[in-house]
Parts: sequence; structure tokens; C-alpha cells
Amino acid sequence: MNTRLTRSLASKLAQKVGQVSREEPRMISAKPKKRQHIKIQSKVADTHSAIGGGDQQTTKTAAPIKSEDSDHSHTYTVSKRGVGDVPVPSTKSKKIKWEPTSWKQQLQNIKEMRLKKDAPVDVMGCDKLSDENATPEVYRYQVLLSLMLSSQTKDQVTSAAMKKLRSHGCTVDHILKTSDKKLGELIYPVSFYKRKVEFIKRTSKILKDTYSNDIPNSIQDLCALPGVGPKMAHLVMKCAWDTVCGIGVDTHVHRITNRLGWMRKPTKLPEQTRVALEDWLPRDYWRDINGLLVGFGQQTCLPVNPRCATCLNRAICPYGRQATRGKKDCG
Ligand code: SF4
Repeated sequence: MNTRLTRSLASKLAQKVGQVSREEPRMISAKPKKRQHIKIQSKVADTHSAIGGGDQQTTKTAAPIKSEDSDHSHTYTVSKRGVGDVPVPSTKSKKIKWEPTSWKQQLQNIKEMRLKKDAPVDVMGCDKLSDENATPEVYRYQVLLSLMLSSQTKDQVTSAAMKKLRSHGCTVDHILKTSDKKLGELIYPVSFYKRKVEFIKRTSKILKDTYSNDIPNSIQDLCALPGVGPKMAHLVMKCAWDTVCGIGVDTHVHRITNRLGWMRKPTKLPEQTRVALEDWLPRDYWRDINGLLVGFGQQTCLPVNPRCATCLNRAICPYGRQATRGKKDCG
């Protein structure tokens, strides 16, 4: 009896071993693939049921998967029936950035024309009018004030006004103690000097009460000060805090970039120009572009009657081509 039982068990065991060894190749070749599908199907089913979908084919963006022949992620089409897994190119991975065709050459030419660095902005720019021996807070306050004065004012006039202010005592406390009348006399004849007296006084009071006589160090807080807009704020961040977080676009930068064709569509306001420019101009150029173009605008690409005939960009500048062609036609 025991012997029969042992033989029967041995026989069953042998059969089992045989089954395993016969089925093993199938498990290796087929089962992992089947398991993969089951896994994906259940994930899709979860997602699909969560949004209350039906039971037809579902398109699902898989976690980014590196394909062998490219560095782009793919969107995988996965069917609930386990058919598919067809990679299709992602729509977001191949966004081609617009940029003007000749901008590098145009910029190189402008740098060449600006080699002497003898434009008013090079010697009287707002970053040159503060007292470098003052404390950091006072230095920053003077940068802010010189930029407030410079709005729609020639560099020479701003520079003269800052000289007078500094001799008078250009600190938050001192300016707050100065009467409006006296302050007006000190900054005259900068444009809108009466309005600027009001802005300077209100701003100085905020700086005293909120920033311990220093200036804010963010675009948002700077723009909250009376008389300070985005262009000024970006220049303050660069000149006072040595931080570049955007391009300072004034009338020169606005005008020249539109003439050069650096806008995908012509812009009407400097702020629109800033947004459009920051969209394609590489960040490495942001720090210097303002000074470069302002000086170029003061010497060559003038607001009225730009000197296209002698400009190195005349053949690759849409405005210059038209202007020089017009002259030939007339002549
Ligand atoms: S060609 Fe004329 S418009 Fe164009 S960048 Fe030169 S000066 Fe300005």
C-alpha cells in the first residue's frame, strides 16, 4: 500500500516537473509581454473610468520614454484590448522658436559701430550717476532717482540734475526734509519736473517706512512705487542689484528693434516690445542690449532721419533698405 502510494506520488510529481519544463519556454517568451499589456490596460481603465469614458480606444500620454533613435518623448496609443502601443511624435517636443533671420549679423554690426563707446549713455547713463563711495543703500537709492529723472529727458540734463542733487545731499532722509519747491529747483529742467518731485517724495516716504531707506529688490515691488514702470524696474534691478530679470526697453530699444525687424509683428508700445524680445533673444544678451541699442539710437539710428546711408546694417535692415532705396530713386 505504502509502496503503491509512493509510486503514485512519484508519478504525479514527475508529470508536474514535465509540465513545468514543457511550459517554461512559453512563460519566458509570452507571459512577460502579456503581463505588460495587462498592466497598461488596468492603468488606462483606471484613468478612463475616473473621467467616465466608454470602452473604446483611449489615447494616453505615457510618462516620457526615451526612444532609441531620438531624444524626444512619445505619446503612446493604447487600446483597452491591448492592441497598439504605437509611438507617435509628441506635439510639444518639437516647438521651433521664431527668431529674426539676420539678428546676429545685425547685432555684430551694431557692436562694431559702438566700439568707441562714446555715446551720451556711455558716460552719463543712469548707472554712472550714483556715488560709488556711498553706502550700498544710498547708492541704490540714487540709481532709482536717476532713472526716475531720466524718463523722457536727455542724458545730459539728467546728469546735471543728479549732480545738483548729490551736492545737496541725496539720501532718503535728506530728500524728505527738502521742500517741494527746493527739490523742483534742484532737478529743473528735467521733463515733467513738478510731477517728478511728487513721485520722488512719495517714493522716498515708502522707502523710509517700508524698506528701511533701501529700495525693493523685485520687479513687482519696484513697479508698486509711484512713477516706476517695468522698463525702469528692470534697469534698476540690473544697475542697483546687479540682477538681470528682463530687458529694459525704452524708446530707443523699442524703435530700433522694430526697424531691424526683430519683432514677429510690429509692436506699438515698449512693454509689448519687451515681451516679444524676451521671447526669442537668448538670455546672455539681456544684460547689455539696452546700453548697446540706446547708444546706437543716440548716434546712428536716430528717432528722426536715421543715418542709414552710413549704417553697416543698411543692406540687412528692412527700414534701412527702404530708406536707402528711396534716396537712390529720388536722386
Ligand atoms: S539701416 Fe537705418 S534704420 Fe536700420 S539700423 Fe541702420 S540706421 Fe537704423
